[in-house]
Amino acid sequence: MQPIEIHMFPCLSDNYGYLIRDAEHDLTATIDTPSADAIRAALADKGWRLTHIFNTHHHADHAGGNLELKAETQCQIVGPRADASRIPGIDVEYGDGDRFEFGGHTVNVFDTPGHTTGHIVYWLPDDSIAFVGDTLFSLGCGRLFEGTPAQMWSSLQKIMSWPDETVLYCAHEYTQANARFALTVEPGNAALVTRSAAVDELRERDEPTVPTTLALEKATNPFLRAASAEIQRTVECDDSDLVEVFARVRALKDSF
Ligand code: ZN
Ligand code: FE
Repeated sequence: MQPIEIHMFPCLSDNYGYLIRDAEHDLTATIDTPSADAIRAALADKGWRLTHIFNTHHHADHAGGNLELKAETQCQIVGPRADASRIPGIDVEYGDGDRFEFGGHTVNVFDTPGHTTGHIVYWLPDDSIAFVGDTLFSLGCGRLFEGTPAQMWSSLQKIMSWPDETVLYCAHEYTQANARFALTVEPGNAALVTRSAAVDELRERDEPTVPTTLALEKATNPFLRAASAEIQRTVECDDSDLVEVFARVRALKDSF
């Protein structure tokens, strides 16, 4: 199996677009459709023909370009079964535990409600990569627009169950602002302090902080670190209720 090719490009104000390609089978998918124009330009740039759209959730900066791209390319649109009615042009619906083949690459689907009711993420275990949409960000997690803290915590646990070396592609460049917040809840985390400085340097040079890895997020992302004694002290809640610790961290971030 040839490794999957990934082309990442910024679009809109702070989204990332992703094209993934299985050259052997001449398949190219875009992860979400934040901007039909930017995706069209990226395809032309690479000389790739769009065959699939893999949607994570219904928000306009993720599914807004679906119909335009489908009309132009006749691509197949894959998306969350739990939110099928809100995914424009959806052809194939997947949910928790589903698995499909993208050319020679196995893709595992997980329901990760919280940010929206029907958010899904895509994990390609043979390639050690995952596309996590607006569920997990580098040093952050998605806002709870349509779900409860308990739902989001359980969604994040699914991501935490993957191998540490998994490379995580999230949908936004929010890391620098997330780092500022993270330092207020866990200032004694040396790995976080180091990472925050590295993030500042990257952003200073206008470079992306994405992708990240699960190992790095486990060590530094406050939304995955409800078990941290320092975070528990910050939010005044002990480890008898990790969902409550997570909920309080999320609430602090909402008003940060
Ligand atoms: Zn969103
Ligand atoms: Fe988004």
